[in-house]
Amino acid sequence: MRAMVLESPQTPLRLLEIPIPEPQEEQVLLQVQACGVCRTDLHIIDGELPSPRLPLIMGHQIVGKVIRQGPNAKRFQIGQRVGVPWLGQTCGQCRFCASHRENLCENALFTGYQLNGGFAEYCTANENYCYLLPDLYSNLQVAPLLCGGLIGFRALRMTGNAQRLGFYGFGSSAHILIQIAKQQGKEVYAFTRPKDLPAQSLAKKLGAVWAGSSEEPPPVLMDAAIIFAPVGQLVPQALRAVDKGGAVVCAGIHMSDIPSFPYELIYGERLLRSVANLTREDGEQFFEVASRHLVDTQVTAYPLEEANRALSDLRDGRITGSAVIVLSES
Ligand SMILES: [Zn+2]
Ligand SMILES: [Zn+2]
Repeated sequence: MRAMVLESPQTPLRLLEIPIPEPQEEQVLLQVQACGVCRTDLHIIDGELPSPRLPLIMGHQIVGKVIRQGPNAKRFQIGQRVGVPWLGQTCGQCRFCASHRENLCENALFTGYQLNGGFAEYCTANENYCYLLPDLYSNLQVAPLLCGGLIGFRALRMTGNAQRLGFYGFGSSAHILIQIAKQQGKEVYAFTRPKDLPAQSLAKKLGAVWAGSSEEPPPVLMDAAIIFAPVGQLVPQALRAVDKGGAVVCAGIHMSDIPSFPYELIYGERLLRSVANLTREDGEQFFEVASRHLVDTQVTAYPLEEANRALSDLRDGRITGSAVIVLSES
């Protein structure tokens, strides 16, 4: 099969011809239809996340068709379309797994990081961590839901019943989450990179009540904010923008250092927290919502061999919405 492979950090992916993997135990072999590109992929390439498997096939928003099953796989049928998220495997035994917090599992393995992912024609995945995908989505449209949607959904839940939400960074995840937040009757304020007019206009088109630069003061105080951008400087800015009792939730897996800030920014019972990974239950609940209300993802498609261009477009802010590697559109 053809695969885009990371051989060592800080080098471009290389297009290689390698054997199709064999599904073991409870794994399924998938023919990859599409795979979303995520900012986490950039953090892996940049060496900001420790000890990736090398050589590595990245990609953790995989849409694939089941074409073979391992000896103990029985959840899906041949031909079904499933999604593979970031959470690829957990131990089921550690104190986190034992307390419904498998997102924090001590022995978790993540797709496209410690397990090979979907920037390839085929991949294997443990069936217990896959989702049957709702039919109302095309391959292209559904791929970004598998990380931007799922982990964003977990971040959204961390804001509790906040009505007025600030989104810092309006990329793949935020443009999905605004549609869910609107369904829940919430108001979204979108803060983008200065002068990122395409992102601001997408935010307004999707129903943001306000969109502007993260350097501008917000027109009103927020009940909560979610920081999607990997920029530590946004933390004090977001704390400044939330009202007393409000939460600031950092949704990314990596962030540049947070500058020091005066205690008064967090005083007033403001809460600062991160979101780490996802549980399978997050995914089930998210797809339950996303199958009732179509989430209209804005996608830029790339062929497999142009994965490096997709990654650099994401890095340089040339993507509005989500980037997806597409192998089969239908
Ligand atoms: Zn565990
Ligand atoms: Zn991701």
